[in-house]
Amino acid sequence: MLGGFDARRTPILQTDVLVIGAGIAGGTAALAAARQGASVLCVSKTPPSEANTAWAKGGFAAVLAPDDSFRLHVEDTLRVGAGLSDPQVVERIIRSGPDTYDWFCDLGARFDRMRSGQVALGREGGHSVHRVVHANGDATGIEIERVLTQSLANEEDVIVRIGAFVRDLLIEDGRCVGAVILEGDVELAVHARSVILAAGGAGQVYRETTNPAGACGDGTALGFRAGAVLSDMEFVQFHPTVLYIAGASRFLISEVVRGAGAQLRDAAGQRFMVGVHRDAELAPRDVVSRAILDRMVATGDTHVYLDLSTVDGDPHELFPSISRICRAFDIDIAHDPVPVRPGAHYAIGGVRTDLEGRTSIEGLFAVGEAAATALHGANRLASNSLLEGAVLGRVAGESAAATTRAPSLPRRIPKPPEPDYAPQLQLDDLLYSLKSLMWRNVGLARDEPGLEEAVHRLALWNHYLLRAHGHDRRSYELKNMLTTSSLIASAARSRTESRGTHYRTDHALRSDDSWCRHVFLCRSPEGAIEQTSGPLGPPSDVGSVQGLSDVE
Ligand SMILES: Cc1cc2nc3c(=O)[nH]c(=O)nc-3n(C[C@H](O)[C@H](O)[C@H](O)COP(=O)(O)OP(=O)(O)OC[C@H]3O[C@@H](n4cnc5c(N)ncnc54)[C@H](O)[C@@H]3O)c2cc1C
Repeated sequence: MLGGFDARRTPILQTDVLVIGAGIAGGTAALAAARQGASVLCVSKTPPSEANTAWAKGGFAAVLAPDDSFRLHVEDTLRVGAGLSDPQVVERIIRSGPDTYDWFCDLGARFDRMRSGQVALGREGGHSVHRVVHANGDATGIEIERVLTQSLANEEDVIVRIGAFVRDLLIEDGRCVGAVILEGDVELAVHARSVILAAGGAGQVYRETTNPAGACGDGTALGFRAGAVLSDMEFVQFHPTVLYIAGASRFLISEVVRGAGAQLRDAAGQRFMVGVHRDAELAPRDVVSRAILDRMVATGDTHVYLDLSTVDGDPHELFPSISRICRAFDIDIAHDPVPVRPGAHYAIGGVRTDLEGRTSIEGLFAVGEAAATALHGANRLASNSLLEGAVLGRVAGESAAATTRAPSLPRRIPKPPEPDYAPQLQLDDLLYSLKSLMWRNVGLARDEPGLEEAVHRLALWNHYLLRAHGHDRRSYELKNMLTTSSLIASAARSRTESRGTHYRTDHALRSDDSWCRHVFLCRSPEGAIEQTSGPLGPPSDVGSVQGLSDVE
């Protein structure tokens, strides 16, 4: 139902590689493509400081310690992935960890070191040893963005445009040939040999989230509208410990804090993770998140507490940003319990890719949080996502630069239809309702009635929004949030078992007989969500799979 207009009237920019996003995935991809001699246009709707990457605290996992091994890191990742991680993908990404560390050091990254000069490694939930590389204590993402931004600025053939919002991908004869961009009120088309989608996560579709405001699921929605295959959308990781102060923006209290000895307690001071899991506070995130939720329900409280008085060392020195933020609310982390509760943190699903970042659409690559490689399976091992973004960002950048086939020029620019009637839609109200619905019905604990309600309400809101659609960035973002939410809810409804981050109160057990497979989603010619499920194959192969019902 997309109308069109003459592409010759829209200004067209030309580049070899278009990169959408300037986080760790987009930044590494742009740099790698440029170093292969390609001209690169990297567009980002937000400044790098507002990408998820810049907010990353703990660091990235890499096998660097003498007591660590690739085998151990692979085993930890597979265990947490709950049967859905692809062992080949896991092996490949984890073996690239040490090289990724060296690559960032060569760019000038200053990671924390011990007095001996050796790299200082943190330990996080699900990891059997210390292996998390970090910078400035808990400000790793800022350091990564600093070196990427600086390195991109030094490349002659890279142009970075901040504030450029990609509203749609351009598809011509089944191939991705560029994208349509909004800069303020101005619409531009970019014509590219290859496009790399690195548009990040979707935490903003939930009321409680650790993600910055730009994480609206644009990447998955863009991929879906373009016709790409998506997978694993039902798996959303919730971070157990998000600072909870009513009225304040949510701030993540990293796992490293629990790794250093902090303990979870309820309002009565009772430590409750012992007895829930043998790793207590360092159990996988879904286990800790659900235990917190259970405790909140049992006590009727809105949050629990993180006690840093048990940390090995001075918490102010070890965690300077957490100390600073808490101090603003008169919380002294060395003595006062810190109020926390879970929040949506990481989108495991996304546009399905192979190990070069190739999607089911020729010319379109996807990397980072917008992509789904099956590294994380049904649950993400902490600090594996920055690693994945950097490893596959570099590979995809090189592959994209090697694309020599010139795509045809787009003949028409897709445009959403003009509104046929305008129901008085309050976008703020719709946004709030959407976030609440997702939190309540598609959050940490799900069931059929809640998911059914979510799928139907989302379809209705989508219908209204399409009919009253504005042509500004805010309307497009809301549309993307609705699309991404529908994809999450539909996939979650199909998976009638509990596994990893996906927990169904009405199907509380894991069912390997029926569900050791992935849910794939793509767009039907009419625009509905089509679902299939099966084992992993190449991204374009969703053929030999078991059909599930189509969901509007
Ligand atoms: C608080 C927090 C702490 C975390 N800590 C860790 C950690 O310690 N270790 C770890 O491994 N992971 C961590 N993560 C997860 C990790 O940070 C992310 O998964 C990772 O940074 C994602 O990188 P990315 O490049 O895919 O996306 P992002 O870094 O989010 O970048 C997305 C980019 O796409 C741009 N964009 C989006 N939509 C559009 C559009 N329509 N048009 C143009 N541009 C667009 C954005 O502006 C941005 O530049 C954390 C996440 C959060 C939120």
